[in-house]
Amino acid sequence: MTNFESLGLAPALLKALAGEGYTTPTPIQSQAIPHVLLGRDVQGIAQTGTGKTAAFALPILQRLAENRRSAPRLGCRVLVLSPTRELASQIAESFRVYGRFTNVRVALMFGGVPKGKQARAVAGGVDVIVATPGRLLDHMMDRAVRLDAVETLVLDEADHMLDLGFIVPIRKIVGATPAVRQTLFFSATMPKEISTMAGSMLKNPVHVAVAPEATTAEKVDQSVVFVETPRKRHVLFDLLRDVTTGRTLVFTRTKHGADKVVKFLEESGLPAVAIHGNKSQPQREKALAMFRSGQTRVLIATDIAARGIDVDGVTHVINFDLPNVPESYVHRIGRTARAGAEGVAISLCSGEERPFLRDIEKLIRAKVPTLQPLAKAA
Ligand code: AMP
Repeated sequence: MTNFESLGLAPALLKALAGEGYTTPTPIQSQAIPHVLLGRDVQGIAQTGTGKTAAFALPILQRLAENRRSAPRLGCRVLVLSPTRELASQIAESFRVYGRFTNVRVALMFGGVPKGKQARAVAGGVDVIVATPGRLLDHMMDRAVRLDAVETLVLDEADHMLDLGFIVPIRKIVGATPAVRQTLFFSATMPKEISTMAGSMLKNPVHVAVAPEATTAEKVDQSVVFVETPRKRHVLFDLLRDVTTGRTLVFTRTKHGADKVVKFLEESGLPAVAIHGNKSQPQREKALAMFRSGQTRVLIATDIAARGIDVDGVTHVINFDLPNVPESYVHRIGRTARAGAEGVAISLCSGEERPFLRDIEKLIRAKVPTLQPLAKAA
């Protein structure tokens, strides 16, 4: 069995990992770390929850420490692009935690908060900037940041960045980095447009994959309840009242839908919080903190808000609405059964959503079993 030492990681990083209680590298870590240490480009298929952040952060930290040089004013040596603020914050935090015994300097840039402080943080140059593409581009336009000293560029959740329409900002950002650089490209799925994008950015990449494309997390026990839309909230309430339902993430297709579900649950005496794009950053952080601490056991989220949320111990994912993009289903249910745990995913499917279910079943190459007792009750 491999350990972190045999992957070639330096003592300062091993010490931080021991502090985190990590003993064994995850598959994506064993596959990627040695190549990243050697400076190779990597194209990786991996979902959040597989340990992919450490798979790139650890070797990047090591390369930074091995070659201590200062970034220029307004510049950085490593640029990590993330689709959402939540994921960006988690990545920055990972760099700080794993780099605790190195003197890495990390800056974070995302929208929804004032720009001034973010700009000041990079004014003297930093080692790593973790950013969402839109806000980074804003800072570039303001000439508050320069990317001509980037040695390593990471694109995380590339498929999601494309879903969010970040293709143009990404092109501009990548175009502002040096042509000679190391590029690490991660995506949960690799449809054609994503691999084309990867092809244009990567040079002779090593391919790593921890699950075949669009394969549903194997440990998730999936089922579907056929129920018409007006009854969905009652079925949801019954599911949530069930003692076996622990920390539960409920997905709705729209922000408005998320708020309506929270309202109904609260009125029914079941506390829940929502996280979606209309919420302010402090509201999102508060909701996440309540869910993480167990203060509330139900978090209602839209796809966009939920990407990258890393909460341990999610026992259930409930799809209040089925996603019309089948890949989203795979992402959603991947929020449970993280780090080897088992999880349950239940989808509420109305008549109109049956075509979505068919698309999902085609993608995962399996039929989702019907949850019998509830189907009758519904
Ligand atoms: P990620 O896929 O990067 O979002 O990581 C998923 C979760 O696994 C995070 O909570 C990490 O802190 C955790 N993790 C990453 N690598 C390991 C490891 N080798 N052993 C145990 N936990 C890990």
